[in-house]
Amino acid sequence: MTHRKNTSVLGFDLDGVILDHTKNKVRLASKLGIKISADKTPSEIIKKHLPDKIYHNFQEILYDDPVISRSSPVMPGLKNTLAKIKASGLNFFLISRRRNPDKTVNLMKYHKIWPEYFNEKNTFFVDNKEDKDIRAKKLGITHYIDDEITVLNLLVSVQNKFLFDNLNVFKNSENYTRIRSWAEFNKILNKLT
Ligand SMILES: [Mg+2]
Repeated sequence: MTHRKNTSVLGFDLDGVILDHTKNKVRLASKLGIKISADKTPSEIIKKHLPDKIYHNFQEILYDDPVISRSSPVMPGLKNTLAKIKASGLNFFLISRRRNPDKTVNLMKYHKIWPEYFNEKNTFFVDNKEDKDIRAKKLGITHYIDDEITVLNLLVSVQNKFLFDNLNVFKNSENYTRIRSWAEFNKILNKLT
């Protein structure tokens, strides 16, 4: 009897994995008088360049301003890979720390990834980084993609962790498989299906 390989359960982060805020972050920082280059925009890096108070406000505008929030595009190749995942029959989930689920769902509708790929059944909102692991464990997630190393560090229940690094800035991160694009994830997907 052969074992079916079809037991992988995929999990994704939203910001910096599904949505690309790079250009908006550069623009917004510049409006606040802080010059930031694209390679400094990943969440864990930009925090070091913006004072705490400004960062909070910065995040709010980025995620909640009706015009700005919609102007961050989906990552290149995202929909192609999501279509492949959906067709493969693998289960997949979104786990996000966004503070405002309703607004986030509307944003996903705007980008045509809700209900095409994500819906009430496979989308979860959690409060903090630790909660991501609690949720991942409940869902039986085997493969998770996040753009923050600190999140991956806390995902102790997940066996296969991928650092999404579309800007190619985490070259020294050896603990996790780095993927630089959704097209690159296709190769991994081929092995799972
Ligand atoms: Mg993220």
